[in-house]
Amino acid sequence: MRTLQIAVVGSGPAGLYTAEALLKQGAALDVPHAIKIDVIDRLPTPYGLVRYGVAPDHKSIKSIAEKLRTVLEHDGVSFVGGVHLGDDVTREDLLASYDAVVYATGAMRDRRMGIPGEDLPGSVAATDFVNWYSGHPDIDPGKYTLDAESVAVIGVGNVAVDVARILIRDPEELRQTDISQPVLDTLMTSKVREVHMIGRRGPAQAKFTTKELRELGELPGVEVVVYGGEADLDTFDPTGESARLAESDRHVRGNYTVIKEWAGREPAGSARRLFIRFWLRPTEIHGPSQVSGLTLERTRLDESGKFVGTGTYDTLNVQMVLRSVGYQSVPLLGVPFDDRAYVVPNAEGRVLGPDGAALPGEYVAGWLKRGPTGVIGTNKSDAAETVRALLADLAGGPGPDEAQLPRAGLLRYPEPGPEAADGNGSASRFEQLLASRGIRPVSYDDWLGIENAEKELAASLGRGARVKLSSREELHRACGLAARF
Ligand code: NAP
Repeated sequence: MRTLQIAVVGSGPAGLYTAEALLKQGAALDVPHAIKIDVIDRLPTPYGLVRYGVAPDHKSIKSIAEKLRTVLEHDGVSFVGGVHLGDDVTREDLLASYDAVVYATGAMRDRRMGIPGEDLPGSVAATDFVNWYSGHPDIDPGKYTLDAESVAVIGVGNVAVDVARILIRDPEELRQTDISQPVLDTLMTSKVREVHMIGRRGPAQAKFTTKELRELGELPGVEVVVYGGEADLDTFDPTGESARLAESDRHVRGNYTVIKEWAGREPAGSARRLFIRFWLRPTEIHGPSQVSGLTLERTRLDESGKFVGTGTYDTLNVQMVLRSVGYQSVPLLGVPFDDRAYVVPNAEGRVLGPDGAALPGEYVAGWLKRGPTGVIGTNKSDAAETVRALLADLAGGPGPDEAQLPRAGLLRYPEPGPEAADGNGSASRFEQLLASRGIRPVSYDDWLGIENAEKELAASLGRGARVKLSSREELHRACGLAARF
């Protein structure tokens, strides 16, 4: 039986759901194939945004890692950590080593707002801040000191909700989570007492989901403040569309119910306050050497429903600005990339070349395929679509036009070398390539070493089930590797 060798680049939800779909759909193929999947990640740790994106206090979402673990522990799947596509291996190396490659590297860069002062110290991309509180090895755990008393969070999506909640909630409540100790220590001494979450449009256009929004009102000791005028659906929207959405759209109706209730409350004067503001767009972050304020322009919709500035400005006294205006994917070396949509151009997951034709053996899944939208579960159906395309290419043979093999979109089927013939025996083509470059990847067992070290750390600190190791050095030590990734 031929073994199909597949590389999945990225071990986050998109990558692991792809591996899972390959196993499931592959088992149902008419012509049976064994499938061997290498899940490659630049980090020594698997799970991508589940480990380094989901907030530490969202334990139920974090438990998705337990489900994804079963994929990594499947006989047909190997974790190949600490290998960077770009620095360590090239796209051509992957294509020469595997029958197919699925890119699933997500979206890790922040979008820019394009306003003066965006690069001042104290103006922080949410991507960076999320990485910091998640203990990402790319970020120095001492990077933020949280000396600001007032912070503006720009954007009203779920990431804005996450960063606002972590900034304003009592850090004592994070003690039993896996948040790294240096980050917890910083939050314990944080001076932040006011967070202003800023939406450039109204409550009916906000991107956050109702469950996440409601949670903000349940934080002990934190008062949520919404101004009645800004919550009104008609004041800044002459088209009536906001009011219509609040009737007809379940998502908007849910959000609006929560916001309306907050807008109707008497101020309680709590020590920690979270202001949720609407119809304000940032126009300038003030310095001179550090963030000292944020100018906002009042906005509205015009008669055609376009959002416009009104020429009325106000300056908010804040010492930190967190820009949470969406994520972007980064191009992978040599892989086609759409510079405007920030995705890999694709049709149902088949990577498209410059002429619009599918490239043999190359596929894409997750945020890199469709942009940074949806919840983690969205990646399951997204990955299943990509795998359907991949396996159809395997099974398809010549297309309806009777083109000869290999036609674009079909798997590559490189001639198996003796070492790669069964995919199980001696070192695979890719392992040999890494060894020839002196690269020793992080295996799944190595990762289990990191997990154990995190459990031991939690026990020694008297804190919950596990506490994240927060630096490269600690991760290296825990998996017994020389410092290189
Ligand atoms: P998002 O949902 O796209 O929200 C981005 C926000 O930034 C929007 O409010 C947007 O306003 C605003 N924005 C964009 N450009 C702006 C500018 N120049 N000035 C001011 N505001 C601007 O993105 P996200 O919050 O980064 O979330 C990404 C994805 O991850 C989403 O699908 C989200 O649901 C998901 N996620 C889920 C969870 C969870 O389930 N708990 C947690 C975190 C993230 P406009 O609408 O006006 O453009």
